[in-house]
Amino acid sequence: MLKGKTALVTGSTSGIGLGIALALARQGANIVLNGFGDTEGPKAEVARLGVRVGYHGADMSKPAEIEAMMQYAAAQFGRVDILINNAGIQHVAKVEDFPPERWDAVIAINLSSAFHATRLALPAMKAANWGRIINVASVHGLVASAEKVAYVAAKHGIVGMTKVVALETATTGVTCNAICPGWVLTPLVQKQVDAKAAANGWTNEEATRRLLGEKEPSMQFTTPEELGELAVFFCSAAANNVRGVAWNMDGGWAAQ
Ligand code: NAD
Repeated sequence: MLKGKTALVTGSTSGIGLGIALALARQGANIVLNGFGDTEGPKAEVARLGVRVGYHGADMSKPAEIEAMMQYAAAQFGRVDILINNAGIQHVAKVEDFPPERWDAVIAINLSSAFHATRLALPAMKAANWGRIINVASVHGLVASAEKVAYVAAKHGIVGMTKVVALETATTGVTCNAICPGWVLTPLVQKQVDAKAAANGWTNEEATRRLLGEKEPSMQFTTPEELGELAVFFCSAAANNVRGVAWNMDGGWAAQ
């Protein structure tokens, strides 16, 4: 379905970003990966699906590096047809204890980076009259939790930005939508499970059960594979007129 298209997925060396990159590659899209840590493993995993794969190590908190990444993608692949704004970090603390530099980092990586990548991707998408921008927000773009002030502010912000971009592209073949996962067992969440286990003397299993029990009625994690298939749907012709939605995949979290 996506043969000949190029998808750039930010923060795709791990977790949800990698799951979405693999799902798009299975549909034939060439992939530009981004993120820190091991890059050779994810590159090989994508390449095994028979598509072209590139990588740019832009730090998504730095606008100049985001510009360099977009230039790299255009030079190597022609243009970015599908932009997945996924890179994100978390910091957990009460508002009065929240380190200001962590606030700045979360806002920069989880929110401002999506603005920069989107503004740089839009002209070529509009010129081609086809494009997909998918923002990986969170159920925290719809509801709040204590001790996540920067994350919740950034995710509500990205849901708002999704709607603005959808309105500005409404008469074109470019769409912009957001995905709002509940808990997904990635390194970002395992850190929160570990912190709960350490603070309360619980086993990993007990901490996991309690983490799910607090928020997610299904008591199940959403998987990167499931989120990848939702991204594939947004890229399909059936979703040509799906614009500005924030689609939760959260085991009933936001329904409460
Ligand atoms: P993860 O930690 O597994 O992956 C994060 C990715 O972002 C990694 O590839 C990492 O290298 C990259 N990254 C981090 N800082 C970066 C930076 N400055 N520049 C470039 N890349 C950077 O986390 P994940 O759980 O897969 O999270 C991905 C997205 O999904 C985030 O936006 C997160 O907020 C969102 N999300 C996660 C969950 C969850 O339960 N895991 C739920 C809802 C939303």
